[in-house]
Amino acid sequence: MKKNVKDVSSNYLVLNSIRLHYPVARNEICAITELSTPSVSRIVNKFIEDGCVKEYEADSTGVGRKTKLLDIEEMAVLTAGGEYDGKTLKAAIIDAKGRLIRCDETNSQCVTALEMPGASPDELTRAIFAEVQKLIARKGIGIDKLFGIGVAMPGIIENESGVVRFSASLSWENVPFKAMLEKVSKVHCVIDNDIKAAAYAEYSSRDYNSKITALLYVDEGIGSAVIVDGVILRGITNSAGEIGHITHDVMGMLCGCGKIGCYQTNVINSFLLAEARKFSNIRSAREIFQPQIRKNTWARRIAEKYIHNVARLLDNIVCVYNPDTIIILGELINDVPMLFEEVCEEYRNNSASSYLQYPLSIKKSKYNGHSPLIGVGVLASEKFFRNVAQENQNS
Ligand SMILES: [Zn+2]
Repeated sequence: MKKNVKDVSSNYLVLNSIRLHYPVARNEICAITELSTPSVSRIVNKFIEDGCVKEYEADSTGVGRKTKLLDIEEMAVLTAGGEYDGKTLKAAIIDAKGRLIRCDETNSQCVTALEMPGASPDELTRAIFAEVQKLIARKGIGIDKLFGIGVAMPGIIENESGVVRFSASLSWENVPFKAMLEKVSKVHCVIDNDIKAAAYAEYSSRDYNSKITALLYVDEGIGSAVIVDGVILRGITNSAGEIGHITHDVMGMLCGCGKIGCYQTNVINSFLLAEARKFSNIRSAREIFQPQIRKNTWARRIAEKYIHNVARLLDNIVCVYNPDTIIILGELINDVPMLFEEVCEEYRNNSASSYLQYPLSIKKSKYNGHSPLIGVGVLASEKFFRNVAQENQNS
């Protein structure tokens, strides 16, 4: 049955389907949204008039006939994405398609990084806005073109109210960060957990035809996030997916969260480095995996245990979420040659139980560590699209 065009969300359904499926023909929008052809045409025409959607003619396959396709206008909305992990603040400008704006001079992705360990909420709000102003000025764009700012942080972040409830990495508790940043920047702001933001960036990239996308983060913390049909599973306090704090060894080490033997006590990079330091004066966890160092028995054992543990984390995600796609994110997985392949092999050969063997796609993140700031920038721009849809509905 065709949906009634008076449905309050029909404008958003159309706009969102163009965002997620561009380039897309009008009849495809009808099929996706289940709205009638006249309804879709009326809504699309208004979005084109408003300048957030464009339509162009393209050759349809092989027969030389022209077909009209709808696309999102890249510069219809600009948002800033920021990420702070307690040490470094990264910032970038994101366009309407969720892409990092490039620097004019080098045509490389324009991401700034500012070292500011242990920043207070006040210091961070001022620093974020200063970085965003610099980025906007560098592109020769007016600050009035910026619709919003999104900031991704580790910890329990109440994304609706914009309060950082608890962050061990930042040593913050009950900080109304969204309100503080809005006061400084005078634009709409969004804050979210960094891993959920990263998962949203991967989902929004449209590179995976995925219904249930899970993300596993393994770095100086462990976490996961899952997106089902485009919706982030948040839980009651936006802390769903904290698999790093699942108890792994009841006789294990004390975790930063206060419990004993959480998974992450055995897997985070600083733990690997501390183990290695018993035998060598290497300076980073990455060195353990260098071929000449990995020849040592101690390094081989640390590496094997790490691969085993990450494979078990993948197994936990499969057992809990049963996703079609898992994306792994983390410095070691990203940078150490063949480590990703070794983890996948260990998972498939020794971790996955036979009844849970199915065509699961395991991928590396494609964003080179930038996915949290891209994801939170996209989340900030969604408010713009909701507003546009709402305004059209009312006009
Ligand atoms: Zn813990």
